[in-house]
Amino acid sequence: MNRIEQYEILKALPKVDLHRHLEGSIRIETLLEMGRKRGLDLPLESAEALAPHVTWQPGQPRSLKHFLTKFHADWYSSYSDVERISREAFEDAAASGVVYLELRFSPEHLSRHSGLSPEGTMEAVVESGMQAADDAGMDAGFIVTFTRERYDFDQWKSVINHAVELSDKGIVGVDLAGDEFAYPNRQFIRIMDRAHDTSVLNITIHAGEGTSAASVSSAVESLHAQRIGHGISAAEDSMLMQKLAQGTVTLEMCPNSNFQTGCVHELKDHPLPMLKNAGVRVCINSDDPAMHQNTLTDEYMVAVEQWGFGLEELFELEKIAVDSAFVNEALRKKIMQRVSDAYLSRGIESLK
Ligand SMILES: [Zn+2]
Repeated sequence: MNRIEQYEILKALPKVDLHRHLEGSIRIETLLEMGRKRGLDLPLESAEALAPHVTWQPGQPRSLKHFLTKFHADWYSSYSDVERISREAFEDAAASGVVYLELRFSPEHLSRHSGLSPEGTMEAVVESGMQAADDAGMDAGFIVTFTRERYDFDQWKSVINHAVELSDKGIVGVDLAGDEFAYPNRQFIRIMDRAHDTSVLNITIHAGEGTSAASVSSAVESLHAQRIGHGISAAEDSMLMQKLAQGTVTLEMCPNSNFQTGCVHELKDHPLPMLKNAGVRVCINSDDPAMHQNTLTDEYMVAVEQWGFGLEELFELEKIAVDSAFVNEALRKKIMQRVSDAYLSRGIESLK
């Protein structure tokens, strides 16, 4: 079977993405339009001119610090901009075979320069995204991301309260992202206790992306993390791996992202296969597809080409993703059925 045939099979499989940022999913054409409207000081004459500033390109530095410079917060002028990027994120996910997307977004980022309220942006993302998901025949959940560098207990508390109010519309959890070195987990215990106390919001924490395994441990032990974003460094600590293997915490891994940020040296050396073999719950996700210039299908191709995975291994990871989704049991059953039917109808055949 050639590469194109393999790709088409993977693209058609129903996939679950638990780790995708709205702010990293914006089409370049949309950035151009929004940037021109705002008169931003960026090369906005063409997609080619803008691309190196908002996407990772081969030859650019591979560091988290460099990658984070590509997130600009001043694109947005109106709620209709926010509705548009949410809708387009779901359309693009559907085009790569995603049937359940948990889209995460930062109300603070969307409102920082736009004059919009954090609460209003939450409603715009959720209502527009849910409609787009419905139109595409997908299911959806939304996660509110907090950025470590921008901690403000009272502001975050009010966002958490609003997230609870929107939980019946689709907000399912909260996330912590940003600089783990300068703003370690211990600074966020009080606010994550608050999120946990709602008993409505689930918790996922970016941890162990460019830091040590201790950051993964403390996210689970101190911040109530049910899932970990990346968690690459868990592979350096055999005790932690054993503990994770016995528990229910899932690592949301994003191979191309990890390569582009320099958190792994080579895709073939990504720790996902090793963690999987150790019994740790892992799944494959896209992170920032527009900025990485990837799709979830491309991420699955990494598993096939770099790690020698076949459909059997991918089915195992997909089941872990469904099992780890922040959904009620009825929806979990529906998604699991959809995924299982597709894999089983292929007879888990080889991709060779
Ligand atoms: Zn992320």
